[in-house]
Amino acid sequence: MTDTAFQKASPSRVGAAAKRPTRVATVSWGGKAVQIGGTHPVVVQSMTNTDTADAIGTAIQVKELAMAGSEIVRITVNTPEAAAAVPAIREQLDRMGIDTPLVGDFHFNGHKLLTQYPECAQALSKYRINPGNVGGGKKREDNFAQMIEVACRYGRPVRIGVNWGSLDHELMARLMDENSRRAQPWEASAVMREALVTSAIDNARRAEALGLPHNAIILSCKVSHVQDLITVYRDLSARCDYPLHLGLTEAGMGSKGIVASTAALAVLLQEGIGDTIRISLTPEPGGDRTREVVVAQEILQSMGLRAFTPMVVACPGCGRTSSTFFQELADSIQSYLRRQMPVWKTRYPGVETMNVAVMGCVVNGPGESRHADIGISLPGTGEIPAAPVFIDGERTVTLKGDTIAQEFQQIVEDYVERRYGVGARVHNQADS
Ligand code: SF4
Repeated sequence: MTDTAFQKASPSRVGAAAKRPTRVATVSWGGKAVQIGGTHPVVVQSMTNTDTADAIGTAIQVKELAMAGSEIVRITVNTPEAAAAVPAIREQLDRMGIDTPLVGDFHFNGHKLLTQYPECAQALSKYRINPGNVGGGKKREDNFAQMIEVACRYGRPVRIGVNWGSLDHELMARLMDENSRRAQPWEASAVMREALVTSAIDNARRAEALGLPHNAIILSCKVSHVQDLITVYRDLSARCDYPLHLGLTEAGMGSKGIVASTAALAVLLQEGIGDTIRISLTPEPGGDRTREVVVAQEILQSMGLRAFTPMVVACPGCGRTSSTFFQELADSIQSYLRRQMPVWKTRYPGVETMNVAVMGCVVNGPGESRHADIGISLPGTGEIPAAPVFIDGERTVTLKGDTIAQEFQQIVEDYVERRYGVGARVHNQADS
């Protein structure tokens, strides 16, 4: 066989599959409308962990999540006190200029809270209903119907959110029974996955039969194992056209939660499955709740599906680097860029696609820095203590001494103004 026998006729395709066709649900508040599904970009959402009855504390956390980039924020509505606080949370957010839509998470008593606290129903932009937690038998039908009636009355979309930790026992028992009569019964885990998908779709159809529009329904089937989640969502996606909310439930703490969520969601997103995501991380004690928003954004941006903030490419460092200076610089530049984004995203449109490289030595430093929009190659062990800066692939200044970090940050700022500022936009319009 000749070498040319290995050559391909055309290059391999890069990128995720096109998003699967779904209906589009709109979650809105005031002038803000977040669209979920269809060809709209995958929406990032999050959930508070404050006591919802604490209206001020919850409003502050919603604001923090929104400022970090959460496009929708869910709050639990679990008690009469929480339901009574929801309008105050909404008012407080409106006063702070935060128009992020709020989603109410209802379990067990949602039918009572939504009907007894109409101002709560009005202040929420979407309701999450877990069909496994609305009661049993006849009560189940009535309670579910009451919540759907409220959604219809206020014109609110609903997420039918099934969770394997609270799967509808009656449905599961029925499917297990049917399974036992199969010539070759499925494994119990396969019956459980089937029950999740069936529960989500059956309840969505019931909601439609009760009057909820088809495009006001979003589905989720959350499990805590990566392979189960992938299988469940592939099935769900093949069997309905409702927009899908993706998330690995109880993903866990620290790197475990991030890795497991990323592993599961990346596979599905690559296949075009998923219209909104939430990363369910357990915060470290005293940890920042906004981490789940940052991780969700980083998954989407790493996959090239959306851009939220300039990305910093940094080498891992090795024996060629004698200090941690380049790690500190990479970290401070990444934090600085993220801090600027609330202002930059309106002042410098397109800046979120910028790439910055911070490299540790001459081996890959100049090459990687040239590929970035702006990069710096720091000196490794035994190298001349000088850090060349590359802008748009060209070597420009060389930084030296104790002020490299400050000078590089200033160079980044100047570059952002020059490339994405008003002057650059006027210049580009004149050229076109
Ligand atoms: S660029 Fe240099 S310092 Fe960074 S990992 Fe590669 S060899 Fe090591």
